[in-house]
Amino acid sequence: ALTAGIVGLPNVGKSTLFNAITQAGAEAANYPFATIDPNVGIVEVPDDRLDKLTELVKPKKTVPTAFEFTDIAGIVEGASKGEGLGNQFLSHIRQVDAICQVVRCFVDPNITHVSGKIDPIDDIEIINLELILADLETVNKRYQRVEKLARQKDKDAVQEFDVLEKIKAGLEEEKPVRSLEFTEDQWKTVKGLHLLTSKPTLYVANVAEEEVADHDSNENIQKVKDYAAKENAEVIVVCARIEEEISELEPEEKAMFLEDLGIAESGLDKLIKASYNLLGLATYFTAGEQEVRAWTFKKGIKAPQAAGIIHTDFERGFIRAETVSYDDLLDAGTMAHAREKGKVRLEGKEYIVKDGDVIHFRFNV
Ligand code: GDP
Repeated sequence: ALTAGIVGLPNVGKSTLFNAITQAGAEAANYPFATIDPNVGIVEVPDDRLDKLTELVKPKKTVPTAFEFTDIAGIVEGASKGEGLGNQFLSHIRQVDAICQVVRCFVDPNITHVSGKIDPIDDIEIINLELILADLETVNKRYQRVEKLARQKDKDAVQEFDVLEKIKAGLEEEKPVRSLEFTEDQWKTVKGLHLLTSKPTLYVANVAEEEVADHDSNENIQKVKDYAAKENAEVIVVCARIEEEISELEPEEKAMFLEDLGIAESGLDKLIKASYNLLGLATYFTAGEQEVRAWTFKKGIKAPQAAGIIHTDFERGFIRAETVSYDDLLDAGTMAHAREKGKVRLEGKEYIVKDGDVIHFRFNV
């Protein structure tokens, strides 16, 4: 499963947020294959469509899809030179698919800040610089090797060399690889290099309790937003302490608590959804009398692969996918009605699954 790593300087609220994630935790019984690792927190992906489908189909059981966050502790200035737990930290980041960087925007004189002052851009740049330096080291090594091959006019090497030159120039100007522009072909080469700053990233602005509902006056947040806009990154505003409280509540209590705070959606729910999108994930549904269930897939996959997410037998014996879009099904009111209206399609092996598809797989055993 794809996972998003939570990073940030010390004392910015990472552990508090990660606690909220593990406490909100998905019902483990539903996800027997999930990673058992204390640094991984599994959450259910909130999805209104699943609730609507449940009302419509009235199954015995409803199972949301899940998403994993990984807690990555240990960044300090100098990590790329091996300071603190530097190397370990970098190798953990290498293993995640996206990065959620927690940035301290709350002011609290009782909680020290590593740099002695609250300056979110400074904080972001400390971390980004460590990642840039680590990437530069990777790229420089590769550069020397590929340069020789490129001189011998090896076609692949020439192509890679162009990409490496561009990356090197960008990194030397302290630009993360994700902010550079490449052609689609070049992106494939970039991905193969597994660079830290090429991973999709979002910023989590951790604000004070009294600022969650209305944070327009917090100039730190505006600074983070302006900074993120330059790299086309998203900013999610949360109050980690409040998220920790919310994670202990029952669903009905949670709704009331959010209303009292004057917010429509918890910060954690926003973060889950944003991370899911950041990774290019989407959801399809299966809807039977026994169970209505959401399944995560990577956008772009075809029907047999999507079937394989449920069970490898479904992929091996795939015949076709009876598919109706969520909107059409909701519109029709029942599966039978959707069928009468001709909204249920029989899709074959080449069908590219879409977000919101409600699918019944036909397969040979
Ligand atoms: P980490 O080092 O990044 O994991 O930070 P922690 O989660 O341990 O938080 C450091 C301190 O900041 C703890 O005392 C937290 O209670 C406090 N803290 C975290 N989030 C908030 C917040 O939203 N508001 C306030 N006032 N304090 C917070």
